[in-house]
Amino acid sequence: MKMINGYHRLNRMQQLEILSQTTGIDGKSLANLSFDQVRSQIIENYLTDYILPEGILVNLRVNKKDYVVPMVTEEPSVVAAANNGAKLFHTFGEITAHAERLKMGQVLISGVSQKKDLIENLRAFENELLAVANQAYPSIVKRGGGAQKIRVRQLGVDSLSLDVYVDTKDAMGANIVNTMMEAIAATLEVKFKVTTEMAILSNFTDRATVKVTGIIDANAIEHSVAEKIVKASEFAQVDPYRATTHNKGIMNGVDAVVMATGNDWRAIQSGAHAFAARDGQYKGLSTWHLDGSKLVGTLEIPMAVATVGGSIKINPMAQLNLELLGISDSRELAEVIGSVGLVQNLAALKALVTDGIQKGHMQMQARSLLLSNGIHPKNIERGVRALLKYDRMNAESAMQVIKEIEG
Ligand code: NDP
Repeated sequence: MKMINGYHRLNRMQQLEILSQTTGIDGKSLANLSFDQVRSQIIENYLTDYILPEGILVNLRVNKKDYVVPMVTEEPSVVAAANNGAKLFHTFGEITAHAERLKMGQVLISGVSQKKDLIENLRAFENELLAVANQAYPSIVKRGGGAQKIRVRQLGVDSLSLDVYVDTKDAMGANIVNTMMEAIAATLEVKFKVTTEMAILSNFTDRATVKVTGIIDANAIEHSVAEKIVKASEFAQVDPYRATTHNKGIMNGVDAVVMATGNDWRAIQSGAHAFAARDGQYKGLSTWHLDGSKLVGTLEIPMAVATVGGSIKINPMAQLNLELLGISDSRELAEVIGSVGLVQNLAALKALVTDGIQKGHMQMQARSLLLSNGIHPKNIERGVRALLKYDRMNAESAMQVIKEIEG
């Protein structure tokens, strides 16, 4: 393929022409792609919009308040499982959640010869450094937030990290914190004559986590099943292979709401997995135990989500979804998302230790197989019933069913 130079400088027609020439895709098909003026300004080299389905979770009760929750995902069964888990807690238990939202930025300093002296000097200069940060972003201070405290950590032989904790209120805070860190870095270079290598927020937001506790009557799901869920949770604490899949199940729910609300899912993902490995071994983010006749699940997960900032305001679906949620601020949003993670986890573990995951997935898999092989949506229910009768569900049997129904 020939090198393409200056693609971003071309107008839309020219870009489509280059794409067509390079890929062999018909220019007319490309010209038919939807184009949105606003979204074309959000990312670079915008081509079109990529559509994902959105489903609804009902009956989620958190801190005694009921929510309907929008979930955006391409994976079958996720929304159904979340509804199943939420209904169980609603009927036979309760969920409480509490979120913190302190973000952290860091200035990385290298080539330090007198480390002990520099650490002491930085600590003594804390108030001045916080003032520098706050002057760099006064509007967040006016909103009641701002830089609150520092921490200095030694990294290797001659390097340090100056960590700064910032309350970014309802914003995720990446731009706010980055602006503050760059101002601090410039001050450190002048005041302490140090070399700063970078100044940026950390996505390991261990002071912006949500802690969720879910308590449910173990008999409601059968005591023996509850015992198996406890065992499954123990496996996720000792085996990283199991822990990764355990956490993927939690993230199925978390990501779907993060996406629906226009939040940065890469930040949530990286934070979650760093947190899962915070004591040196990657572990399940949730644990389950029995307390008499109660099955108790706890989940703590970084949740640096926002209700403002980024592209949230200009994304009409994110706005509608925040309205559907009926939440008042980013703290409440974090509490709802963490709770979705826990109900998703309960539903997945319950399926896993009883019927196995595949049985529950069969119906949804049948739907996906039929749709991807071209069934008309009006025939889908009939098609699913027919396909489930086959010993093997694959493209071949799906095509056979479609042929039988549609000729
Ligand atoms: P913005 O830069 O959009 O800043 C949010 C702004 O919203 C604030 O500065 C504030 O401006 C305004 N605001 C209005 N109401 C409130 C409120 N109640 N609480 C707080 N702020 C309010 O967003 P962020 O700084 O949050 O940055 C998030 C974006 O940065 C995301 O798009 C993310 O993907 C991206 N990003 C992420 C990185 C990472 O994760 N490593 C790195 C770089 C970028 P004012 O007070 O002036 O009205």
